[in-house]
Amino acid sequence: MAAFKAGNVLITGANRGLGFEMVKQLLEVPCPKWQIFAGCRDPDGPKSEALRELVKKHPSVITIIDVADPCSIKESAKKVGSLLGKNSLNMLVNNAAVLASGSMMTIPAEDMQNTFNTNVMGPLLVIREYLPYLQTAAKARGTSGMSCDKAAVINISSTGGSITSMPSMYTQFPVLPYSVSKAGLNMLTALIAVELKPDEILCMALHPGWVRTDMGGEEVSVGSITTKLMFLKAPLEARESVEGMLRVISSLTENEHGGFMDYTGQTLPW
Ligand code: NAP
Repeated sequence: MAAFKAGNVLITGANRGLGFEMVKQLLEVPCPKWQIFAGCRDPDGPKSEALRELVKKHPSVITIIDVADPCSIKESAKKVGSLLGKNSLNMLVNNAAVLASGSMMTIPAEDMQNTFNTNVMGPLLVIREYLPYLQTAAKARGTSGMSCDKAAVINISSTGGSITSMPSMYTQFPVLPYSVSKAGLNMLTALIAVELKPDEILCMALHPGWVRTDMGGEEVSVGSITTKLMFLKAPLEARESVEGMLRVISSLTENEHGGFMDYTGQTLPW
C-alpha cells in the first residue's frame, strides 16, 4: 500500500462491499493528505451506518456525498467543488452497481432499465459532473503523461461484461441485464477514453475478481437455480481484491489508457 499515490479521490457505492473496503484501505496509506469523497445513495440510511462510523473516526479525511440520481449527482459535485476549493479531484472510481439476474424471456423490462440506469447512466453522469475537477487536476500537474495520482477515471467493470468471455459462462450465470450493462460500461470506458485523451485524464475499466460481497457472494439469486449458485463460493475476500486493484491503479500509465484489466494487472478481452 505504501506505493499507492493519489490525491483527492471519489468512490461511488462506498457504503458497503468493495467501495467501503477501498475507503478503508486508502485510510491505511501512511499520512494521507488527501480527501476521500465517499458516494452513496442513502447517507442517513441503515446501509450506510458502517461508513458513518468510519467518518466519525476520520472526519477530516472522509466526506460522505449523496449520489443517488441525476439531481443529487449534480448537487454533490457542487458540494465537492466547494470543499476542494483551489484543489482538484485526482481520481474518480465508478464502483456502484446493481446485479439483476434473468435471461431473455424472464427479465422484466423494468429490471433491465434500472440496471442500465445504475451501471451505465450513473457512471456517465458522475464523470460529466466531476470532469472540471479532474481537468483542473490534470492541468495542475504540469507534466505530460497519465497516472492515477494526476487525474483518472476508474470504472469498476466485470468479466460479466466481456463479449468474448461471458457467453461461455452464461448458462452458469444467467445475469443478462448485468452483463449487458457492464458491456455498455466497457464501451463507455473505451469511448470516454478517446474524449479524455487530450486532457491527459487516464480512463480504464477494472475487474475486481469474483469477490465475497453482497453481490459476489452467496446472496446471488438467479430464479430457479438460486440453490445451485448458493454452493458456489466466490474465491476472493474484499480485502485481497481491493489490495490488488489499488496495486494496479498505482501502476497505471498512458499505456493502459482505454484498457480493460483485472485486479492482478492482467489485460482482459473486451
Ligand atoms: P455490493 O456489495 O452489492 O455493493 C454495491 C454498491 O453499489 C453499494 O454501495 C450500493 O449501495 C451501490 N448501489 C447499488 N445500486 C445503486 C444505485 N442505484 N445508486 C447508487 N448506488 C447504488 O457490490 P460489490 O461486490 O461491492 O461490487 C462493486 C463493484 O464491483 C460493482 O461495480 C460490481 O459490478 C463490480 N464487480 C463485483 C464482483 C464481485 O464478485 N463482487 C465481480 C465483478 C465486478 P446500496 O447499499 O445503497 O445498495
